[in-house]
Amino acid sequence: MAARTAAPAQPLSWGPKGLPVPFVTAWSEEKPTARSLTTRTDGAGLCYRDETPADRDQHGVLWARMRLAPGEGRPRYRLLHPVRQRHAMRALLCQGCGGSASRTSRGWLFLMPGSDISAGTDEVEGMESALCTKPPVCEPCALLAPRHCPHLTNPIAVRSRRPRVWGVFGDQYAPASTSRGFTHVPTDGYLPYGRSACARWFVASQLVLELTRCTRAPLPTGH
Ligand SMILES: [Zn+2]
Repeated sequence: MAARTAAPAQPLSWGPKGLPVPFVTAWSEEKPTARSLTTRTDGAGLCYRDETPADRDQHGVLWARMRLAPGEGRPRYRLLHPVRQRHAMRALLCQGCGGSASRTSRGWLFLMPGSDISAGTDEVEGMESALCTKPPVCEPCALLAPRHCPHLTNPIAVRSRRPRVWGVFGDQYAPASTSRGFTHVPTDGYLPYGRSACARWFVASQLVLELTRCTRAPLPTGH
C-alpha cells in the first residue's frame, strides 16, 4: 500500500472487507519512539537526547515521536497518529480522508459522542466551548464514521464557526527525587497553552480545539 503523509485522498482501507481506515488513525508499524526522552541538563524540563526543532510546536511544547508509515501493518483504531492528528486539527482537514472538512456559513462540521450531550434537544449548551481532540469531518466521511467507529455509537453533529486552538493532550511528567529522573503524573491529559511550568514536563500527543460559536447540525444522511 502506498505511503501517504498529508495529501488528501480517499481513506486507506484494510483487510478482506476493505474497511475504511481514517486518515488520523495510527497503524501498528507506526511505532512510538520515546527512548531518547530525558531530563534537560539544567533540570528544567524534558527533552529528547537528539532533539530537533521539529520536536516542539510554536508554544515550545514537546511532542510524542511516532514513526510515519500509514498503511503499514494493522490499523490501531483507538490510537491517533500525533503528526496527522495535529496537521488535520491545524488545517481543519477531515479526520476520515484528510481532504477538506465540511464548512458552511454555520461553521465546520464536527462529530461528537452523543453520550456527552443531553439527548433529544437542539441545545448546544453542552457543546459550547467543548474541548475536542477529533478533527472535523467532510460530509461523506460523516456518513461513514458512525458505522465504523466504536466510540461514535450515537453521534451528534455540531458546527463550530470558531474552532480555536486551546492546547494539547498527552502525558504529564514531573522531576523524580533521583537525580535527572522523571516520573509520570496521572492527570486528565489536557493542558492549555500558556501554562509553562507544566508544559516543560509534558509530552503532547494530540492538539486540542475548543469549539466555540456552536450550533447543532443534522447528521448527514446521504439522501
Ligand atoms: Zn472525509
